Amino acid sequence: MLNNIPSSLNLRLIRSCPVCNQEYRQSMIQVLDESEMGFLTYATCSTCGANLLTKFSSLPQGVIGNAILTDLRAEEVLEFADREVLTEDDVLYIQQVISKKDLLNSIKKIS
Ligand SMILES: [Zn+2]
Repeated sequence: MLNNIPSSLNLRLIRSCPVCNQEYRQSMIQVLDESEMGFLTYATCSTCGANLLTKFSSLPQGVIGNAILTDLRAEEVLEFADREVLTEDDVLYIQQVISKKDLLNSIKKIS
């Protein structure tokens, strides 16, 4: 939960579609995830169909929002959110794979 700002006020920050400028109705905005760190919302524009994913984070300086357009459905966003967090070992492994010359073959082996 965000301590000092009610969720309804934050949702009002998402006003209109960045693609076609259609104003969002609050019912079009889903809250996908909420924690003490902030929350994640997903809105689909009824006019152009663009999906906007917005993450609000509660920091000591105030609330910060990041928004991106996505072609993922809300369920797919949650699937990715549930995946395991990358570890340092994962990053080192990727670094090693990228630095090899046979990168394409490595990718083929993984998939
Ligand atoms: Zn739109």
